[in-house]
Amino acid sequence: MTPLDALVGGATSYLADAALIGGEVVERVRIDIAADGTIAALQRNAAQAGERLPGLVVPGIANLHSHAFQRAMAGLAERAGPEGDNFWRWREVMYRFLAVLAPEDVQAVAAQLYVECLLHGYTSVAEFHYLHNAPDGMPYADPAELSWRIAAAAEAAGIGLTLLPVLYRQGGFGSAPPTPGQRRFLLDPDSFAALCARMAGHVPLGVAPHSLRAVAPDDLARCVAVADGLGPATPVHIHVAEQTGEVADCLAWSGARPVQWLLDHAPVGPRWCLVHATHIDDAERSRLAASGAVAGLCQTTEANLGDGIFPLRPFLAEGGTFGIGSDSNVCTSPIEELRWLEYVRRLESRARNVSETRQGASVAASLLGRAASGGAQALARSAGAIAPGRLADLVVLDPDHPALVGRRGLGLLDAWVFSGNISPVQHVMVGGAWVVRFGMHLRGEEIAAGFARCMRRLADAL
Ligand SMILES: [Zn+2]
Repeated sequence: MTPLDALVGGATSYLADAALIGGEVVERVRIDIAADGTIAALQRNAAQAGERLPGLVVPGIANLHSHAFQRAMAGLAERAGPEGDNFWRWREVMYRFLAVLAPEDVQAVAAQLYVECLLHGYTSVAEFHYLHNAPDGMPYADPAELSWRIAAAAEAAGIGLTLLPVLYRQGGFGSAPPTPGQRRFLLDPDSFAALCARMAGHVPLGVAPHSLRAVAPDDLARCVAVADGLGPATPVHIHVAEQTGEVADCLAWSGARPVQWLLDHAPVGPRWCLVHATHIDDAERSRLAASGAVAGLCQTTEANLGDGIFPLRPFLAEGGTFGIGSDSNVCTSPIEELRWLEYVRRLESRARNVSETRQGASVAASLLGRAASGGAQALARSAGAIAPGRLADLVVLDPDHPALVGRRGLGLLDAWVFSGNISPVQHVMVGGAWVVRFGMHLRGEEIAAGFARCMRRLADAL
């Protein structure tokens, strides 16, 4: 038994010095956790409980959009290309990388990614899983091989997983044939439905028609039918309107812009997550906000890929819901995502504190609260707030950390989101179980060693 093991488990009742509840910092909160990992009860101004948590407890954040394998190619597409270097050239690098990625690599990379996410304050992840086939495009002996690898990685890391098997069928709008680089992604609708049926009951599931360019309208309808078969709240995620080229192609194909087309032809509602939705006009933005769907914003990836800027301020003014995702995993910190959500709009508007309009309100608390609740909605995970009945997905910040010391109340969040790059995350609990204690992931060393072996092998193979 290591010293860290001794600190795991045991108590089911905690006394937090402070906790973020309903957007406010409340002092001396007793948090009782039930055997099923949910919060059984909260008590304010409590006197005692099983274990003291010295610090501020905040709800963990759901990472609503990840392609885990891309963590291993971070930095591989950062050399200047020909004039007009863009997303589509990055995608070619990704396709070459996929030619050498084996199932054990997928698992090792995903486990490391999930550990990094946990260390920064994500507590769950929606894995938008489109890597299904072997490098030659043939199914594995078990067609769910790579889905099992993702599930095993999430279990090893202890992160909450919502697996989103992806249907990917074509190379572009109008049933364009897929390219050889896409052969690891391709499934027919029956194989897709079989994959979902195979994984159901083992991991929480959603479905993901990849994008309007990669699925035809009848495939999209089939995805929704599969989701309905899994249950009425089953999440449906789709990439949409990430690139201006995609908008132009959609207009040429249908006469409508992508988000407009989707809102006109699919039952978009609160269980939907429209990932990116970057290029939307005023009417699409208003309709998206009114639909109750979650806008899946992946700011650091969108910046890395040169996608464009989502109209966050007017979307929030219209009551829109958003969450954040690490997407290509060039960044694994929810704080950096939130920081850049705000900073990009400051640069754009030449103003400050632009994501929150109530005078005196904390921009950090507002962004964090919205991202936590929108992310939980997108994963259909009963989390995203510290409240009785919700899963105990909790992050404890160290108030004595140099990033936070001397700050109080919501000032701790202001400092966390808007300063520094050294994480003050001290402890992380997922569904009532500790996975990070004193800034260390409980299986971090072993998982990092597996990742290192994988990365060295890939470096030789590329
Ligand atoms: Zn994506």
